[in-house]
Amino acid sequence: MIVLLAAPAFAWGHHYLVTDRALSHPSVTWADEQVEVEPLSAFIEAQAPTLQVTLQAYQEWMAGRKSERFAPQGTLVSTEVELLAACRLNPTATFPLVVRLLPGAEPGERIDPATASKYLKPVAPLVMEFAAVEAGDLVSARSVVDTFTDEPDWGFDHELWVYPSYGYGEIPYGKLTGESSKAAFHMQFGHENLLVKMFAHDVTEGMVVERVELFLRLSRVAFDSGHRYWGYRFAAWAAHYVQDLAQPYHSKALPGERFGYYVKYAVSEKKDEMKAEATQLAANRHFIYEDVVAYGLQQSYLEPDPRYAAMSGWLSGGEAVLEANTAEKLAELVMKRAAKHAPKIDAAILAAADPRFTDDPSYDVETAPDYTVAGVLAAMPAPAWDTLLEETGQDFATAGAATRTLLALARGD
Ligand SMILES: [Zn+2]
Repeated sequence: MIVLLAAPAFAWGHHYLVTDRALSHPSVTWADEQVEVEPLSAFIEAQAPTLQVTLQAYQEWMAGRKSERFAPQGTLVSTEVELLAACRLNPTATFPLVVRLLPGAEPGERIDPATASKYLKPVAPLVMEFAAVEAGDLVSARSVVDTFTDEPDWGFDHELWVYPSYGYGEIPYGKLTGESSKAAFHMQFGHENLLVKMFAHDVTEGMVVERVELFLRLSRVAFDSGHRYWGYRFAAWAAHYVQDLAQPYHSKALPGERFGYYVKYAVSEKKDEMKAEATQLAANRHFIYEDVVAYGLQQSYLEPDPRYAAMSGWLSGGEAVLEANTAEKLAELVMKRAAKHAPKIDAAILAAADPRFTDDPSYDVETAPDYTVAGVLAAMPAPAWDTLLEETGQDFATAGAATRTLLALARGD
């Protein structure tokens, strides 16, 4: 009855900056550890028997959740393609040996981001710089975790709906192809009202928590067997989803709508129109929020602006870790906080930008020629800036602590 939402592209725009700032917290003592770059195939070859046991245990855990969006897969893996199938990921995904460079990095050799993933397209003013590394090179744990917290957006979660044997079922939200085909694995709405639960159960059937669990388990296999590079890379993947859940627009379907909206919707004769309008408004505000914070975080490396420094400070300060001793508890805790905070951040965005961008359902921020993040920032009234910073602070404090908690669980700290 109520079917909602086609999601825009990336939560937090650029996860690597969220991660890098989160790892600057004084409690993180391991970020400078040097680890040896290793191709995925070498890790699989070395750990095939342990991977099999781990994947079987994960499938038992999945079966215990009684999800209707699950079908068991073969767990005997000796190649990348077999591992992708066992994990129910896109079989065409590849695992490049690269590092992502922070804003303002020293000049040097760069590679085309498209060689890391066809989904990577730089959009100014956000920079996107990669360098290649080789098997055997030493890199810091920080650069591995920074770089690969973006990797779940690089293709292995895209367009999975054409593999019925994976058991994901009918797409619950998003689109079958393109960027938003991964929405069900990157957005999860576990805190919707009774009307949504009753009449649009699909909306509540996201699979983000299951991804966190899977990649945390793989990370532990790697750490336990001394494959530190893959320990950090898998942990970075798991951290990606936890960061997604900390983004209110990824944890609440329509943050701007109150219960009355759903009641009105239920009796409306113009359901398609109501749905399209509410979805477009949420998508526009979602996009602006991510764009503003991605730009602010990037600039925090490049210019001494107190507002950008404050954004970065929310991630690198505050509580070290959250109280959660499993992936599932961590994901649930983060999702609950973000869903609860969603109306506030939505109101802050509404107040911070031109109503043309935030309150006009006929406008699409993602494709509009006259929208720029710099324009929004320049026009933002000072009190609205302050409120937006304060509310962003809440989401970032959760995202930062959640990232560190995930890494602590992976490393066995
Ligand atoms: Zn994501």
